[in-house]
Amino acid sequence: MLSVEEALDKILGYVHVLETEEKPLLDALGQVLAQDVTAEFAIPPLDNTAMDGYAVRAVDTEGATLQNPKRLPVAGELAAGAVYEGELQPGTAVRIMTGAPMPGGADAVVPFEDTDEPSGREFGTFAKPVESVAVYRSVKKGDNVRYAGEDIAAGARVIPKGTLLRASHVGALAAMGSATVRVIRRPVVAVLSTGDELVPLGQPLGPGQIHDSNTYSVSALVKESGGIPKVLGIAADNVDALTAKVRGGLDADMLLTSAGVSRGDYDVVKDVLAREGEIAFWTVRMKPGKPLAFGTFAGDAGRVPHIGFPGNPVSSMISFELFARPAIFKMMGKTGWQRPTLRVVVEDRIANRDRRRIFARAVVSERDGRYYASLTGPQGSGVLTSMMIANALAIVPEDVPEVRPGDELTAMMLRWSREDG
Ligand code: AMP
Ligand code: MG
Repeated sequence: MLSVEEALDKILGYVHVLETEEKPLLDALGQVLAQDVTAEFAIPPLDNTAMDGYAVRAVDTEGATLQNPKRLPVAGELAAGAVYEGELQPGTAVRIMTGAPMPGGADAVVPFEDTDEPSGREFGTFAKPVESVAVYRSVKKGDNVRYAGEDIAAGARVIPKGTLLRASHVGALAAMGSATVRVIRRPVVAVLSTGDELVPLGQPLGPGQIHDSNTYSVSALVKESGGIPKVLGIAADNVDALTAKVRGGLDADMLLTSAGVSRGDYDVVKDVLAREGEIAFWTVRMKPGKPLAFGTFAGDAGRVPHIGFPGNPVSSMISFELFARPAIFKMMGKTGWQRPTLRVVVEDRIANRDRRRIFARAVVSERDGRYYASLTGPQGSGVLTSMMIANALAIVPEDVPEVRPGDELTAMMLRWSREDG
């Protein structure tokens, strides 16, 4: 039996970072940047005003107070998007709106609030231009001015290769005018359920039958991890049916199957792997999810890694979490696949009779600066609803036969924030 780390190492040895693709900017959200992004020009491109108000020379406002205002003739108005023709003459002001470039010669902006136009009038709507403005408070050079290049300097390396693109990166790329961006492509992950008892959604259940939920939970996990699921459907528990379905997934970057790897029907997936591909290993010292098949199939464009999850719904989800999610992250060029962990005080008893590594579904919460983990309830690997409740997996090490309330464990956080309602 392999340890979780050995199994993961082996799997990661078979998957590689995928090729790059040029994508429309918004579609690249959540993908990894394939080359450094350098600024061709400064942002903002010109010095401009951070406030609506009056562009002035700071010296012309020296000593201005409410009782003793400085009155300056207004030489013109400037909206964002326009550029002031000419220079600001000493002793004058230009009415200016946020984002408009500073007129030459101006070095500060007096906000409307500090003038006799306290609320500002709607720009351009008054018939008579303002002839002069009373300044009630002095400004210093640079006040309310945003300087060219303050956000991004021309030529700077703004986003390094390997960055996972979030909304802020998409915004920065847009500010730089990039309509498209080169990223590592998302893997296509084929998902196949096996089992004679399985019925597709929308069909009534006969005696002994169940709906195929693994296709959906696993495909949803593929999506959550950044991959593109390719749903292959259900294969019956026989070599021919399974072989035919598997072949439909060989154009994918990875193949995930569920069930058919435990003792009862293990031969089916094994036989197909042996006939069409290669088996790398079979069992992992973990609970749930001990039977795990890994191998490769000869695909259209090289070998397609295949992970065979056990059929129990919780086992397949946790096996996905431990093995498929890191593999998808690696293919996408993402490096930080490890979940954040916390030391938690356990509130329930957990027995570890056969000394495997237990991943117990738990709810972790904070009280008075300490973190506590309580189990979600019965830990059967068929209790899929436990996965809805859990925000963490509390990890019982292989060499710990029993965990008692009050003991400490490490918990792997599946979700960090309470974003779910
Ligand atoms: P197996 O790994 O084939 O021994 O299956 C273990 C358990 O998981 C059995 O109770 C199966 O009915 C169940 N199971 C297998 N595949 C699925 C699936 N796609 N959806 C829901 N349950 C499944
Ligand atoms: Mg089965």
